[in-house]
Amino acid sequence: MKFPVISELVTTDVTLLKIDATLNETIELMYNQNHRSVIVQDNNRFYIVTASDLLRLKLKNYNFNQKLCEIRLIEIPTILKDKNILEAISFLEQSIEYVSVIDQDNNFYGIITHTDIISNIDPETLMDNYRICDLININKPICKVKEDTETLEVLTKMVESNLDNIIVERDNKPVGIVTTKDVMKLLKSSADLSVEISNYMTSPLETLKESATLKDAINFMTKKHFKRIVVVNDKDEIVSIMLQRELISLSYSKWATLMKEYSSELSQINELLNKKTKKYEEMASVDSLTGLYNRYKFTELFVSLYATMIKRENDMSLIMIDIDHFKNINDTYGHNSGDKVLIGISGLLKQYFRNVDVICRWGGEEFVALIPTANIENSEKIANKIRIAIKESSILDTLQVTASFGITQVKQGDTLEIAISRADEALYEAKNSGRDRVNIHL
Ligand code: GH3
Ligand code: MG
Ligand code: MG
Repeated sequence: MKFPVISELVTTDVTLLKIDATLNETIELMYNQNHRSVIVQDNNRFYIVTASDLLRLKLKNYNFNQKLCEIRLIEIPTILKDKNILEAISFLEQSIEYVSVIDQDNNFYGIITHTDIISNIDPETLMDNYRICDLININKPICKVKEDTETLEVLTKMVESNLDNIIVERDNKPVGIVTTKDVMKLLKSSADLSVEISNYMTSPLETLKESATLKDAINFMTKKHFKRIVVVNDKDEIVSIMLQRELISLSYSKWATLMKEYSSELSQINELLNKKTKKYEEMASVDSLTGLYNRYKFTELFVSLYATMIKRENDMSLIMIDIDHFKNINDTYGHNSGDKVLIGISGLLKQYFRNVDVICRWGGEEFVALIPTANIENSEKIANKIRIAIKESSILDTLQVTASFGITQVKQGDTLEIAISRADEALYEAKNSGRDRVNIHL
């Protein structure tokens, strides 16, 4: 087994646009070349524009005569075409789905995507006896709509919830799917969006049984060029949607194990793999923007801290924090400044909470902290200290940022869900009574 170099996997059939192209030109080119994304070049920098991005701009009534350089684009990293595939794996994490490939002279050569990686994992070396049902995350929410839902409602839902697909159901059975590619088709053809989605969905929906093996899943995805697999049980009900990158990380861990067996010859690569495995573990538990725990890790930590609380008969409090009028910050100062505020506030939270406290980025501009051994009075004091610190901070020079806090004490018998819902109610009250305040729900 050997690791291929990037140039062996690269996709050169790519639409490349200059930064001064207009949105109309972009959509036209994407349609003509049947590509769901294009790469935009600005000297040595590369950006990606996808069908979902265009849909979002369309629904926000953007002027499509605007040039690409006038809108905020997502930059993608670059890699040299002679590098080993392992060097690219580190890029294909979280939301980085594309990496641009360049040659020695910095000329654009192509792109490498999840698909390229997936189709180059040797199926022979994968664990045939790993079944999909043992690997999938059944708690992952799946977005579904009934087949008689209005098309506009479905598209709006996709954009608002940032979905790249929606499953269409009849009698709880999946009968079709709508993806960003379909959305592009609809936008292009000025289709009637008031009719039922069943008119436009891709149907029938190809699915994979949960009893299939990891090898079956990779073959299925590679042969059909699917970006995702809809996994169903024996009754044909959906149990999960498995994405390419999930498949990659599963295969990757197997790959890592295999490579360890070649350790004498491949010690260098092993070292790289170990580093990456550690990084993957970290990625699975940490929010990349703020460095705080993500919701998944927080849920896991809640379970163990709750057990300790019961065992030692301690108190424990939970604080929900939501930045006030954050949407205005984004709208007025731009998304980058919004991100700066999120990073700044996370920094303050790290500074003010103790090491034993667990802080997580719960979602967009919401944070949750668990304070072991703190009763409601203690945590109210802490919350107020942080509230004032945020208010007095100068994260954005020209604007005072404030946040609202909802506190509850975790009680015996609480699940995280229950404790969160109490804190959420307290937070809701804090918002309703004027924001920039701490509110309690016992
Ligand atoms: P309220 O005081 O009632 O909480 O109002 P709000 O504007 O803070 O709340 P709302 O829920 O209406 O808006 C939250 C905004 O946060 C909307 C969303 O676009 C933005 N947001 C979510 N995640 C991110 C992110 O990672 N970066 C940035 N810049 N903005 C984000
Ligand atoms: Mg919020
Ligand atoms: Mg808010």
